[in-house]
Amino acid sequence: MLLSIKEMEVRKLPFAETWKPGELDLSDSGATQTGPLVAKGLAELLPHTGGEVRVKGQVETTLETECDRCLGRATFPIDTPFDLFYKPIESAPTHEEEVAIDEGEAEMGFYELPGLVLEDILREQVLLQLPMQRVCSDACKGICPVCGGNRNETDCHCEVHPGDDRWNSLKNLHIELQ
Ligand SMILES: [Zn+2]
Ligand SMILES: [Zn+2]
Repeated sequence: MLLSIKEMEVRKLPFAETWKPGELDLSDSGATQTGPLVAKGLAELLPHTGGEVRVKGQVETTLETECDRCLGRATFPIDTPFDLFYKPIESAPTHEEEVAIDEGEAEMGFYELPGLVLEDILREQVLLQLPMQRVCSDACKGICPVCGGNRNETDCHCEVHPGDDRWNSLKNLHIELQ
């Protein structure tokens, strides 16, 4: 859906849309959308700002990724508000100015005519909600380094000796410190 600047010059643009899994391309994120993605909100051109656009709303969906520890499915229900501001691209800072931008200003996006694509905004907002560590649960025990079994499903009773490299380097460090 195009949030048309021309239309916003006449009226505020409400939106309420649903995208089925697969309709929004999330492929480069490693995540899959498993439930419908529902977004509602309002886009408006702010008066006396030289063309600043505000897009405010709420997006809801469910994403799934591979668990970082056990390679099983990790599910992330997402329900997040957003309140975003965009300036016309002509007012984007040049490279030299960019360095001087403070952190608050860096949150500002830019748009080109004919306007903003709502799907692009939602894709970004949804992916921002994915945690850095994608685990199926905080208690996930991961995969056994000895037999390769999923420790959540079977207790394999393999003995993992604390003789691996990581442990040794810690011991060495300890000796050096003394
Ligand atoms: Zn897991
Ligand atoms: Zn094992």
